[in-house]
Amino acid sequence: MTADLAITSQQVKQAVAALKKLRPTYADLLNFYEKIFVAQEDSKSQINIDPLKISKETLALKRKEKFSLIAISEFVVDQNAATALLKQICQITETADSEMADAARVIQNAMTAGELNPHAVFAALLNTEDAYFKKIETDMGIEKKALAFVAYSSIKPSVVHCAEQLASYLDSDHPWDKGFCPICGSAPGFSLFEDDGNRVIFCGFCWHPWAAQRIYCPFCENKDSKTIHYYFSEKEKNYRIDVCDSCKTYLKAIDQRATDRLIYPPLEFVATLHLDIKAQEMGFQSGIQLELQ
Ligand SMILES: [Zn+2]
Ligand SMILES: [Zn+2]
Repeated sequence: MTADLAITSQQVKQAVAALKKLRPTYADLLNFYEKIFVAQEDSKSQINIDPLKISKETLALKRKEKFSLIAISEFVVDQNAATALLKQICQITETADSEMADAARVIQNAMTAGELNPHAVFAALLNTEDAYFKKIETDMGIEKKALAFVAYSSIKPSVVHCAEQLASYLDSDHPWDKGFCPICGSAPGFSLFEDDGNRVIFCGFCWHPWAAQRIYCPFCENKDSKTIHYYFSEKEKNYRIDVCDSCKTYLKAIDQRATDRLIYPPLEFVATLHLDIKAQEMGFQSGIQLELQ
């Protein structure tokens, strides 16, 4: 029993359909994210960005010091694709049974009226300009959480595209063992155990996948097997929660060997909120930089 990864928007739809059967209580949430993910994959296939270049000298330094290749502020966004997607994401969010529906409506209206510039929103998100979000909240009553969600959802195809292209600069001879993404320096977001038992960690921001040791905390780099554990439920053997007693952080994972569904990692991430509740009840915190999601 092994699962394949979903890549195209058609496969995303199949992945959602399979998950809906398993977890009917998640139907509303899955319907919402299905539209978001399909819109993102469709947008990604049309992204047009010049490849990011890293000089030999810079690359040598990054490898020596084990720095990420870029900072998130350096991601390049296809402004046309992201702006078109932003309108779509707002429409999807407005009509969904979402706590962000009202905010999405206000964002959409402010864009139409020329009061909110999508390019400025994207730049503020990538540069983590809190002051910008505070001003928008004060002036227009749009909560940061909602604006950051629609903005991140809109630039994600560009971000993932850049990360895929930058991955060719990574050192494939030396496994990455730092507690952050080798591409953009963000914290891990989700993980996967492959058919052969190998562990893959996905960046919480650019979704770059990298190979990691099995007994290892990808947040604090702890490798002590006595303080690293995992939990799983007999009812859902295809998921697990990896926890670290040292930094009290958890990471959700899916095991490809325990399911034959198509797997789309961002979908598995949002469809496992019950695991977040469980991990937090056990006293562990999420290591994801939520302000960016
Ligand atoms: Zn990353
Ligand atoms: Zn840790």
